[in-house]
Amino acid sequence: MAEEELKLIDEKGIRNDGRKFDELRPIKIEAGVLKRADGSAFLEWGENKVMAAVYGPREMHPRHAQDPSRAVVQARYNMAAFSVPDRKRPGPDRRSVEISKLMSEALEEIIFVEHFPRASIDIFVEVLEASAGTRCAALTAASVALADAGIPMSDMIASCAAGKIGGKVVLDLGKKEDNFGQADVPMGMVPTTGKITLLQMDGNLTMEEYKQAMELAMDACKEIYKIQRDALKRRYSTSISTFEETNDMEEE
Ligand code: ADP
Repeated sequence: MAEEELKLIDEKGIRNDGRKFDELRPIKIEAGVLKRADGSAFLEWGENKVMAAVYGPREMHPRHAQDPSRAVVQARYNMAAFSVPDRKRPGPDRRSVEISKLMSEALEEIIFVEHFPRASIDIFVEVLEASAGTRCAALTAASVALADAGIPMSDMIASCAAGKIGGKVVLDLGKKEDNFGQADVPMGMVPTTGKITLLQMDGNLTMEEYKQAMELAMDACKEIYKIQRDALKRRYSTSISTFEETNDMEEE
């Protein structure tokens, strides 16, 4: 289908799903949702649903893969067979290997890996429902899960994509926009320092459009960072109040 027929964005700059050019899909994050993981987070981003679980630091196996000077960060991104309308063939494929690699490399930038020689820090991300932007959702959820696990790290990464549809630069491409748009630029950054930890580009942009896309995505990452922090605050303020309630009951 030609992009013009689809009308991804109208003359007033309103997109197919009713969003403005600089509007994110709604994002919800809950931290600490899995009992047996050291840290976890569940994230809903538009129609994406993503679960992240963190284990470690723990002894790296196989031992020959250990690094005597630092921990090895192993992220594994997986899309469930039922996460897309046409069943996805289960198991790793080129795309999931690529996303796992870029997630590991991004997260290594924030974790104090040198504190844990010979260890591994394992991050599992399961995409339960996918509707474009899952790598950004995965990286955002993984950061919260790492913080929930208490892994020593300098900060969290927030991630978001910008792109181009109908000749206009827009934020956070939805599924149709991703399929029929002209460019998609997923990026990840540490919003407090501005450090970029992920940057990819699919399609073509002029230098000016690229700058606009980066500005949109960077502003959005600051918004996402607030949602990440709020999720952690909610998680730990509940723990503290439960702890206080238990103490009060014991004192009575
Ligand atoms: P991202 O999810 O990070 O945007 P892609 O651009 O590669 O990554 O994929 C865009 C969307 O295409 C995914 O979110 C998902 O909805 C869909 N998709 C990806 N891989 C498959 C697949 N193997 N089968 C069906 N749909 C897929």
